[in-house]
Amino acid sequence: MNESNARTRPRWCSRCGARARVIENPYYGVGLAVHRYLTGCTRCGFVEFLPTVRAPRAESQPIASADDASRAARLQGAVRGWATKSRVSLFVLGGLIAVTAGVAAFALTR
Ligand SMILES: [Zn+2]
Repeated sequence: MNESNARTRPRWCSRCGARARVIENPYYGVGLAVHRYLTGCTRCGFVEFLPTVRAPRAESQPIASADDASRAARLQGAVRGWATKSRVSLFVLGGLIAVTAGVAAFALTR
């Protein structure tokens, strides 16, 4: 199934069975949006993602954005892992900063 076929093929609402029209996803390529098209029901307004056809590496834009998304997810995971691992040292560091600020405030106000 190619791109034009996916777009022009008649679609039916999975909720009410009426005809659904294919809409281009305005958020496609932004953040984690990987679905290029949506279907919107003409009767009940139900909106669904159109299953994305994995194009062979011809289209560069969606693949690049998918890579960006996975890179961002990996970075987020790494930061979260680091924060979890060094929770104790972060806590101690925060305590030291608080004590230092307290002592400084005490010395300044005397
Ligand atoms: Zn419907």
